[in-house]
Formats: sequence, C-alpha cells, structure tokens
Amino acid sequence: MPVDVALLDEALAVAHLPALCGALVHVTGDESWIRPEWTPVYVPLSRGETGLPPEVEADIRARAKAAITEFLAGDGKLPPAPPVAVVRRIMDFVAGAEIPEAYADFAMDELAIAGQSSKDPQFDQPRLQAAARKLKVLVIGAGMSGILAGIRLSQAGVPFEIIDKNPDVGGTWFENTYPGCRVDNANHMYSYSFEPNHAWPQHFSPQPELLKYFRGVVERHGLRRHIRFETLVEACAWDDAKGVWRVTLKDRDGRSEVVEANAVISAVGQLNRPRYPDVEGRETFEGPSFHSAEWRHDVDLKGKRVAVIGTGASAFQFVPEIAPEVGQMTVFMRNPPWGLPVAHYHESVPEGFKWLLEHVPYYDKWYRFYLFWTTTEGFLPMVKSDPLWNGGPGAVSEVNAGLREMVGQYLSAQVADRADLVDKVVPGYPIGGKRAVLDNGVWLGALKRENVRLVTDKLEKITSKGVVAGGVEHEVDVIIYGTGFQASNFLSFYKVTGKGGRELHDVWAGDARAYLGMTVPDFPNFFMIYGPNTNIVVNGSIIFFSECAVRYIVGCLRMLGETGAAAMEVRKDVHDAFNAKVDEANKGWAWGSPHVTSWYKNSFGRVSQNWPFGLIDYWRATLAPNPDDFVLERQTEPVA
Ligand code: NAP
Repeated sequence: MPVDVALLDEALAVAHLPALCGALVHVTGDESWIRPEWTPVYVPLSRGETGLPPEVEADIRARAKAAITEFLAGDGKLPPAPPVAVVRRIMDFVAGAEIPEAYADFAMDELAIAGQSSKDPQFDQPRLQAAARKLKVLVIGAGMSGILAGIRLSQAGVPFEIIDKNPDVGGTWFENTYPGCRVDNANHMYSYSFEPNHAWPQHFSPQPELLKYFRGVVERHGLRRHIRFETLVEACAWDDAKGVWRVTLKDRDGRSEVVEANAVISAVGQLNRPRYPDVEGRETFEGPSFHSAEWRHDVDLKGKRVAVIGTGASAFQFVPEIAPEVGQMTVFMRNPPWGLPVAHYHESVPEGFKWLLEHVPYYDKWYRFYLFWTTTEGFLPMVKSDPLWNGGPGAVSEVNAGLREMVGQYLSAQVADRADLVDKVVPGYPIGGKRAVLDNGVWLGALKRENVRLVTDKLEKITSKGVVAGGVEHEVDVIIYGTGFQASNFLSFYKVTGKGGRELHDVWAGDARAYLGMTVPDFPNFFMIYGPNTNIVVNGSIIFFSECAVRYIVGCLRMLGETGAAAMEVRKDVHDAFNAKVDEANKGWAWGSPHVTSWYKNSFGRVSQNWPFGLIDYWRATLAPNPDDFVLERQTEPVA
C-alpha cells in the first residue's frame, strides 16, 4: 500500500508512542522497540504523556516512520508472534510499570494476542453442539449486555430470543438522550473486546455514537431477527416438574403470552429506574418537570428559569450544555462530585490516530491495554482504605489523601475568583467514595456563569411554583431531576418465582445478593448480567464485566449440555460464603467507608452494587463454572 507521508507524519505526531512501540514488536519481530530507555513515566491523570525527553520521542517517531513505511510497502504478513515472555515485557513497557505475573494470562486473553480468547464459546464437539441446539434461552434486555449474550449464544449454537421493552436496541444508550450525554470511559476500551471501533469520533463519544456502535454490532451479528421489541417481561416462574422457566410477556397492545425457556438471562442493567428526591410536593409543581433519563425534548428551555436537582454524573454532563440557552438556572447540590482532570474529555480523535488504529496491526490492542491498565487496576491502590488511617473522613489512606490534595487544588483553582463557590466545590468524602466524573473545566465554568446560581441549602419541598431550600422559595418554570436511579432495586420491573414458589424480591428483602453477581440458590438456570456486586467505581469498563459474565453463563449452558442435566442451581453455602467475602472486602475500599453515603449502598448500608476485588479476580472467577459450586438436576419431562 503506498504511504501518504504527510498523513503518516500527522499520525506519528499524535500517536500513543508506548502502544505504537508495542505494536511494532509484532510488526517487525524486533524486540528493541521496547528498550528500557524508552519506557514511559506517565504523568498521573494526564492523557498519557510519556515523560520522555522530546529528542527521544522524535527518535522513536523517525524510526517508527521507517518501520511502518516498510511494512505497508510489503505483503502485509507479520513475522511469527512474539513469545509469551516478550509479550509480558511489552505489557510492562506499555503500562510503564511492572505488571504482576498473575496478570500475564489475563492480559493475553483480554488482548486476544493469539487471535483467540477464552470468551469465545467452546462448543466444538458434535455431541455438545447437538445438546446446545436443544436448549432455548430467553434473554431479557437488548442493551449492551443482552446484545453480548445474543452474540455468544449465537456463536455457541444455542437457540435464543431477546425481549426488550424499548422499540430499539441500546438499553441505557437508547434511553439516555439528555444534552451532553456521553461515555465517561475511554471509547477504545468501552467497546466489546471482539468488536473494536477504529472510527470513534471522540475519545469519550457522545450518546448517538454509542447507540450507532451498538446498532452496528447488532446488524453485523444478525441479531435483530432474534429480538422482540416493545415487549415487557412481567414474570418468570420456574416450573419445577418440567424444569423450565415460564415467562409471561406483554406486548405493546397489552396482549399477554407465556413462553418457555430452559434458561433465562436477565440483562436489564442497574441504572434504568429513575429515582426522585423524597421531598413533599413534587406532584404539585405546575410547570414541566422530568428526570435526566426521560428527557423531555419537547420542552423548550430557551430563556426559561430552570431548576436542576442533583449534581452527579448526568447533571455534570447536561448542566454545561443547557446553561447557555436557559434564562436562569438554579442548581441544587447536596454534595459536589469529584472531577478528575481529563483535558481531552470532549476532544475529537485526530484523523492520524484513527489511521494508526486501522493500519498498524496491534496498535489498537496495545492502546486498549494502556487504557485498561492505567484507568482500572493501576488506579485501584489509590482508593484502597488503610485500616490504620487516622487522617480524617476526607480520605482513606495517605495516597488517597495525596490525590485529594492534588484534585482538590485543581478544582479550587477553577473557582479561585469566586469567593461564593470556592468552599463548595471540593467534596468532603474521599475520592473513590462515589463514582468520580471526568473534568475538563466545563462544569465549574457553567456554575460560574452569570445566569447560574448554586444552592447548597437542604432541599425542603417542591411547591406549585418552584423549589424550597434553606427556607427560600426559588421560583422556576422547569425542574430537571438529575437524581440518579434506584440502583439497589435489582430487577424491579418483573417478578421471578423460583423453586418452591419463592419470589426473588421476597428472598432478597431489599438486600440483593448473588453468587458472582449471576446466580441465586433456588433459582435454577436463572442468570443475571450486571447483577448484585458487579459494578465498578473507578473507571473500568462495565463491558469487561459483562463479557466475563457471559463467558461464565455460556459455560454453565455447556455444563448442562455435557452432563445432560436439565437444571443447575448454585449451592447455598457457596453463595453465602462468597457474599461474606464480598461484604468483608467492600469495607476495605473508599466506597465502603462508613463516612460515605451513596447509591452503592442499599437501605441496610450494605454495598450491594460493587465488586470489591480486582478486575482480574472477576476474570479468573468467571473463566468457567466449577461443577462443585452447583447442584445439578435431571430432567423429568421433555420441554415443549
Ligand atoms: P447519581 O450519580 O446518583 O447522582 C444523583 C445526584 O442527585 C447526586 O448529586 C445526589 O446527591 C443528588 N440527589 C439525590 N437525591 C437527592 C435529594 N433528595 N436531594 C438533593 N440531591 C439529591 O445519578 P446520575 O448522575 O444519574 O448517575 C448515576 C450513575 O449513572 C453514575 O454513577 C454512572 O455510573 C452512570 N452514568 C454514567 C454516565 C457516563 O458514563 N457518561 C453518565 C451519567 C450517568 P448526593 O451525591 O449527595 O447523593
């Protein structure tokens, strides 16, 4: 392929050099691309600056230019894959840190270096394939996790149907259309490992791009014909005698139907039932009012007096978008969010960067690995609680306090010219206590606008004319609730009745638990994706979690096929022991601190949302189901 020199120069100017060096080991077969003196020393919370002297970077670029030019002029074949030991060294190099030995197979798998991943369904034997074809699986939800389940079931040859209440795929990315909605995980990581997108327009793309991505994946995998839209799942009931789930559906015309399935996969997400503040008078407000997840695009905000209640991840995105257009905005804040500096939060991906992703083999994989390591596992130590810490409730350890100092200064500096704001923008709780947002200055920029007022007095009530806080009535035309979701209320849209007529929500009694977030005793062949204790606080990608969970669930179906069992049910002792470990471990992190109140904790104060271990631990725990963890049951009657 002839090389456009100007484009290559442009690409090299914006390349992530450590990822490029890693890729060039594969492209050239030459290990000297990862020589020690080129190892990056990343500046914390930067966009990945290498910390290398400019002349060293220039040298790398010049050599990379020659290597890429030569590769593109050739036949496109790569030399033999580097041995594992070399891949290990590339990992350390790209991460700018020594990656613990335990991560080697995990990263190899995540990157699919050898072209295969443990997440690819393994249904090779004809006997298994025949068993797979006899199953029927019902997936609830066609969002990110349900789509993924559909793809993997399809690859495994398991018949399935996906049910979704919405008229299209995308789940949260279909429902949340508020102005400024965008992903806050870097897109080159927030995408399926097997469906890279080299054309993400921004590093953190807006919602329409995410929806477009998921729609594209659905088309490429031919999933649409498996999906029933605008259909509600009302109830799932286990038929003990027959060993099947009977699932009651209701279509948009109100017609009910009961379908049978050997297994149910619930992929309904955690963040889709809006939560409103528990204050009197909400229904008395005379003007339009709506929740961020149910944005009223028909309400013209131009010139209006608008109240925004809540300052979490959603408000953080829509306030800067609508502030210039509204007449007057009053933002009601209970706690400020921690905004971690990310200068390129709204920036486009340069064309040269996209070109490298597309044309230099393995560049996309190593760039993904860089993001993966530096924003997830590499960040975790900063939010780990030190049991001996006695420096106050604003931090959980010395390193956490150091981060607090740095980010606190960054936030305060933005409002140094505003005495009325300076004491209000730095949270009292530790970093990692709640999900941090990504800050490029537009949030505090919006709060500093002349037409925006920040109110930190306690919300007292809503009246027909506005919002009362601190004894003052703030009259407004529109109220927008950015008050989050009923996240601890898992699977709140439908009933699940398991063995012996036990209803799942009664069993949970407001304190949802599951084994590995997926299975519950007495609920055979019922699996959840993004279930209890599978959320992450620091900026990992939930897609990673879903991929691990789906691998495990497909492994469970494989176990049914291999053993000829009709049903599998997690053992209660296994489930309980796992949950005891989860509860103990959650206390060891900033989000488990007794000084933090958040939606990660349920009404009992238990952290019911979060995974308290490393990503690698979920990856390992979900490699395949352990038969000893389950009770297998024989089939008594054939499935209809
Ligand atoms: P959220 O983070 O739960 O924020 C809710 C906000 O409402 C908080 O500021 C909360 O204050 C406030 N609030 C709740 N009840 C209140 C009351 N009675 N009085 C006054 N204030 C009240 O909700 P969210 O912003 O919708 O985000 C939820 C989650 O969705 C995020 O954590 C994230 O996981 C996800 N999300 C992701 C993205 C993204 O990827 N780009 C964007 C949006 C959302 P306190 O802090 O004091 O509780």
